[in-house]
Amino acid sequence: QKVLLKVTNLKQYFPIKGGILGRTVNHVKAVDDISFKVYEGETLSIVGESGCGKSTTGRAILRLDEPSGGQVEFRGEDLLSFSKKKMNAIRKEMQIIFQDPYASINPRQTVRQILTEALEIQNVVPKKERGNRVIELLETVGLGTHQADRMPHVFSGGQRQRIGIARALSVNPKLIVADEAVSALDVSIQAQVINLLTKLQREFKLTYIFISHDLGVVRHISDRIIVMYVGKIVEIADKKSLFENPKHPYTRALLSAIPSTDIDNRPQRIILKGDVPSPIDPPKGCRFHTRCPFATELCRQEEPSLRQTNLMLDGHKAACHHIEEIEAGTHQPSPLTV
Ligand code: SF4
Ligand code: MG
Repeated sequence: QKVLLKVTNLKQYFPIKGGILGRTVNHVKAVDDISFKVYEGETLSIVGESGCGKSTTGRAILRLDEPSGGQVEFRGEDLLSFSKKKMNAIRKEMQIIFQDPYASINPRQTVRQILTEALEIQNVVPKKERGNRVIELLETVGLGTHQADRMPHVFSGGQRQRIGIARALSVNPKLIVADEAVSALDVSIQAQVINLLTKLQREFKLTYIFISHDLGVVRHISDRIIVMYVGKIVEIADKKSLFENPKHPYTRALLSAIPSTDIDNRPQRIILKGDVPSPIDPPKGCRFHTRCPFATELCRQEEPSLRQTNLMLDGHKAACHHIEEIEAGTHQPSPLTV
C-alpha cells in the first residue's frame, strides 16, 4: 500500500497570553506529538471527545494552522517546508469539508456562483468549460441541475453538505479531510451522505481523513481508526480489529456507550467518571489515569507508549501499561469506578 500522507511527531501548541505585558504564560497542548500514516485510497477516521485534538490535527495537516512541531509529508514531500505559493498550488489536492459547509461562504451567492468561484480560484478548467463542469459536479453529488440557481438557505442540511462536497471535488483533490461532516445531520441523512462519500471515493480514488466524535458513524465508513484523548493517540487499528478487539480502556469505554443494536461484540461496560482534563495542563503519566478504572501508580507516573500489543494483530497499537493484565482478567477495574 502506498503512503499518501505521513505525519511524524506532530505538535500543535496554542499560546495563552496573560499578564499586563500579554506574554505567553502557558500553552494549550491541543495535539501533543502524534505520528501516523494515511494510505492512498483508504478512509482513516480520527475519533475522540470534543477537545481531544482531532480537528486541530486535520487543520495542521493542511497547514490551515501552522503546526508548532513535527513533519507532514504528502507523497514524500515535506509540506511544512513549502513556500506559500507552493502550498497554495498543492492545496488543490487536499480539501477539507466542515460540519456546516456554509459557515465559510457568501450566503448571497447561488450554488452556481459558489462552484464557479471555486473553479476560478484554483483555475482547474478552462473558462469556457466552467459552466458544464458546475452541472457535472451537481450531478456527481446527486443534486439536480435545476438547483444551480438557488441560494444556500433554501437547501436542507443534507443538500448543503452535498454542495460542500461538490465544492471540495471541484478541484480534483486526492485527499479530503471531513471534519464532523455528517454530525449535524439526521441519522437517515447521515447514511445518505456517507454512501455518497463512499461512492465518490471509488469513482475518484479519493483518500479520506474522517473526523468524528461518534464511533457509531465512523464504523460505516472507516478502513482504519485512530482514537485520540487529550492530544494523544491512544489506539490505532483497522476497523474490524478495533471494534472486535479494543485494547485501550478509553476505546472500550467509547464502544460500550454505543447503543446496543449497533454492536455485536459488546465489551465490558466501562463508565467514565469525571470530565476530559484540560489540554493546558494534562495529567502526568497516562493522560487517561484520572478517569480510568484500571489506573495504578505506574499510570500516574509514566506515560505509556503506543505499542503493538499482540503479534497477531499487525498494525493494531495502543498506549496503555496494563493491556495484557486487563485482557487476562488479572487486573480488575477499581470497584469505586465501575
Ligand atoms: Fe488506564 Fe493505566 Fe492504561 Fe492509562 S495506562 S489507560 S490509566 S490502565
Ligand atoms: Mg472539532
